[in-house]
Amino acid sequence: MKAVGLFGGTFDPIHQGHLDVARAVHEALSLETVRFIPARRPPHRTPPLASAAHRFAMTALAIAGDARLRVSDAEMDQDGPSFTIDTLDRIERIEPARTGTFVFITGSDAFRDIRTWHRWPDLLDRCHFAVVSRVGLPAATLREALPDLAARMHDAPCPVTATPGIFLVDAATAPVSSTELRQALTEGAPVDDLLPDAVAEYAVRHGLYRAPGALEAPRG
Ligand code: ATP
Repeated sequence: MKAVGLFGGTFDPIHQGHLDVARAVHEALSLETVRFIPARRPPHRTPPLASAAHRFAMTALAIAGDARLRVSDAEMDQDGPSFTIDTLDRIERIEPARTGTFVFITGSDAFRDIRTWHRWPDLLDRCHFAVVSRVGLPAATLREALPDLAARMHDAPCPVTATPGIFLVDAATAPVSSTELRQALTEGAPVDDLLPDAVAEYAVRHGLYRAPGALEAPRG
């Protein structure tokens, strides 16, 4: 059975860097699919600007047409913070046959803080991780940043191991963040190729990142 990628994030909004991450891991680990899982309430940060429903809709628009990618509502109906370990529990309850084949995907900046995650030792013992370089933080630097976990790390491309591993994927991903794009959308500045067209149109049409007091965008 091929492994399945689970890519959790705020996706406020989803951008080209996220799509690059998903496609890079899909290829490096020969995954069956990658499921994007928008967090209803991300635990480690200020609340998102766009609602969970709008972030789910933007994610669906961004992946339309790419047969490798899916969007999952696994965290959409959960009260309380969206902890990855709880999401894993829930998914494994629904798909017990796939237990042990899930690969959680993160950027290198997010994984560097893994020790702040709820029940992180448990999580690392129960599922694989794929960690993708983010601009300024190559995935390989995590061996020095997290020396106690270095023995579990493997350079991808490689086969997914039987025991839970941490796969380092050194792919080029668009050097962009949702924070920068929210700012650009608020200011009406160009977003170039960093935001899929359908996502940019959706965000403008629904006034998601409009400056307070700005006039509603004309409807097309
Ligand atoms: P924000 O600016 O709002 O913090 P973000 O751009 O970091 O958002 P998130 O939705 O918080 O996006 O990120 C989800 C996951 O995607 C995280 O694991 C993050 O490390 C990773 N990620 C986001 N953007 C990139 C990128 N450009 N390259 C590599 N990884 C990325």
